[in-house]
Amino acid sequence: MKYAKLKNGKVEILTCEKPKLNSKGAIIKVLGCGLCGSDLVKIKHANQNNEDEIILGHEVVGIIDEINSDTSTFKIGDVVALGHHYPCFNCEFCKNKSYSMCRTFKNSNIFPAGFAEYIKVDDNHLKYTVYKMNSSLKDDEKAFLEPLSCCLRAIKRAGFDYKKDNSIYSALVIGLGSIGLLMLKGLKAFNVDAHGLDISKERQEFANKEGFNFIENKKYDVVFLTAGSSKTIETALKYIIDGGKIIVFASVEDDFSGFSNNEIYYRELSVISSYSPSPNDIELSAHLLNEGIVKVNNLSTQYSLDNLANAVDDSFRNKIFKAYIKI
Ligand SMILES: [Zn+2]
Ligand SMILES: [Zn+2]
Repeated sequence: MKYAKLKNGKVEILTCEKPKLNSKGAIIKVLGCGLCGSDLVKIKHANQNNEDEIILGHEVVGIIDEINSDTSTFKIGDVVALGHHYPCFNCEFCKNKSYSMCRTFKNSNIFPAGFAEYIKVDDNHLKYTVYKMNSSLKDDEKAFLEPLSCCLRAIKRAGFDYKKDNSIYSALVIGLGSIGLLMLKGLKAFNVDAHGLDISKERQEFANKEGFNFIENKKYDVVFLTAGSSKTIETALKYIIDGGKIIVFASVEDDFSGFSNNEIYYRELSVISSYSPSPNDIELSAHLLNEGIVKVNNLSTQYSLDNLANAVDDSFRNKIFKAYIKI
């Protein structure tokens, strides 16, 4: 079968044996996989020493092809989407609800890669991160299960509870790529008054059309940084209300520019980060997508597996919002 791998810093399509179901879990025939910003960061920072460990692709949608599980109710033929990591629920990190810091979380993964014709997932994936997806959704929409769950965790870490009325609060999302847009859609599902800002006129107009315009003379209760540029820190400080929360949701190139100590202190600002979703966030993401509460149509551009390198190039050049690799 075909799968994608980094070789000498470049994305290549190679062949390997179809994974075997030699322990509890399932083999999933991959229908497609989204290209994540984190895949792009990994590709950018790959060197020959680490490229064997890099797993490309994790926003998988597929069909259960083989299954051997005592705990799950999935059947062969079920169309599912999934997340790739699960926590142990036992360690000191899990006890603090820092699930994405759990060592089991960091070491668990799908095999051999999301950009592959077949993958193996284990029993804990089936238990915690795999969800049946509604047939009314297109495959590229189902693949938003994991990225949306990342945004939902960030929204929860900003202090919002899905069951509560959050309509008195406002949020500004800086950076309107696919993750910025997903964050806005998630905030809307949480009933937060959500606005977006981007230096690209085209991206700003797209967000405006979706109902997430930018209001210049307003201070926001929460600001989400999704752009991957440290310049957005200044913008966040300009538009955040005193006592507000800034959510860091992207890595930046120039790691040394940061927040001014005194600005955080005198204005009582909270700077909070959010990295990766827990099983609860994936569950809520499946609910919001399957019930049509969050709509993710017309966000993806489709590529074949053989054209993955082009999808990577187009993403680096910001030519598209989101690449979906049909397998
Ligand atoms: Zn992702
Ligand atoms: Zn743990």
